Amino acid sequence: MPLNLYDTYARQQRPFAPIEPDKVRLYACGPTVYNFQHIGNYRTYIFEDILRRALEYSGYDVYHVVNITDVGHLTSDADTGEDKMEAGSRRTGQTAWEIAEQYTADFQEKLTWLNVLEPHIWCRATDHIQEQIEAISAIEEKGFAYRTEDGVYFDTSKLDDYGYLARLDIEGLQGGMRVDLGEKRRITDFALWKLSPKDEQRQMEWDSPWGKGFPGWHIECTAMSAKYLGPRFDIHCGGEDHIPVHHTNEIAQAQACYDTRLAEFWLHGAFLQSDGEKMSKSSGDFLRLESLVEKGYDALVYRFFCLGARYRAKLSFTWESIDGAATALNRLRATSHSWGDPGTADEDYIAQFKERVEDDLNMPRVLALCWDLAGSDLSDDVKKATLLHFDQVMGLQLATWQPKAAAEIPAEIQAMAEKRQQARTNKDWATADQMRDEITTAGYEVEDTPEGPRVSPLKS
Ligand code: AMP
Ligand code: ZN
Repeated sequence: MPLNLYDTYARQQRPFAPIEPDKVRLYACGPTVYNFQHIGNYRTYIFEDILRRALEYSGYDVYHVVNITDVGHLTSDADTGEDKMEAGSRRTGQTAWEIAEQYTADFQEKLTWLNVLEPHIWCRATDHIQEQIEAISAIEEKGFAYRTEDGVYFDTSKLDDYGYLARLDIEGLQGGMRVDLGEKRRITDFALWKLSPKDEQRQMEWDSPWGKGFPGWHIECTAMSAKYLGPRFDIHCGGEDHIPVHHTNEIAQAQACYDTRLAEFWLHGAFLQSDGEKMSKSSGDFLRLESLVEKGYDALVYRFFCLGARYRAKLSFTWESIDGAATALNRLRATSHSWGDPGTADEDYIAQFKERVEDDLNMPRVLALCWDLAGSDLSDDVKKATLLHFDQVMGLQLATWQPKAAAEIPAEIQAMAEKRQQARTNKDWATADQMRDEITTAGYEVEDTPEGPRVSPLKS
């Protein structure tokens, strides 16, 4: 069976096939780096990581591009308000460039905590101003743009199917319009290039055929995805908030520039909510990954928590559910550890696993399969190999996990404990007792538990 994915553009789950055999070109919208990312944002990157791993598991050679929005994202999606980077600069007293650097580094570090695979290309909007100017020029030459006092706008009336991705009701939007359009002709038109305000010195601005200014938010993704993946590629993804504005406008730009709808598949992750509302940076009330870690949860607990829901379903954050995820993940880790070395994976379980992954990345059912496997009467080495096979997509680092206490025990003490265990297996009680004495002298004690011997520092 092929991998089936829910394509927002088609509004249905359909079999995935790449444009070029065996190769998948994947673009994911990255963060706007004016503040820390919150755990809601990370839910989207975890979903995209599962997608990438599932594609690689299915045998595709994936080429993954993620952008960094470090200019042009305004505080309002209606092309008004301030650039988030400049606002961030005022908030923190650092320059917009320093902020971009700091939050990009923090974001990339947190992805490693979550065991999210690094994309092949990271691309920053500010490193691709020329490409964006060229794309805007092409849009203008083809008659899809108009100039105003404050910039260049995309003329959405020129596209018959503008808004198809989001199934936008353009007439309804236009009729119910209460917002100030500023210089725009239509509510759905959007900025391609904004001129720097005359009365304000911007930190980030560039010369262009239209005057000194900065690119609109949407053009960066169209220009950079085309540069690294070509004007038509396989999968474009992001959080569900991107459907009605950002991705809709990326498609409009691609139609104007290259006469394509950019990606064959459009995938969107549902939001993480807290107290019934979406978690957002702009509201200022959000939880960082660090906050979980400071409370004693390791970052992979958050990953495990996300795997417990389908990526297209909203997920509510509560401390009780994080506790539940921590308990379940630790149980899975300890169980897996107790199985010892892997043998050969079980084919029936692998077939069931594939079926669940291919069903639009059904990770809750993959987790259920892990518990089913644990309760089965297969031998430990088969269970271990099968679980590690699943972990290629789950990404929970089960192969390398060690119980905490054991991890803190020096290698030579571990070696003595193993020697003692070997002696006991050989019924060589004298050596076993001697090893126990040596371990005690070194300041540790060894206890025999149902999961095997456990070494810990002697309590004083
Ligand atoms: P931003 O930094 O706001 O541009 O967002 C980065 C990514 O996180 C985008 O793909 C957003 O769609 C996604 N995102 C934002 N808020 C949430 C949330 N509460 N839950 C899940 N994803 C989110
Ligand atoms: Zn984007």
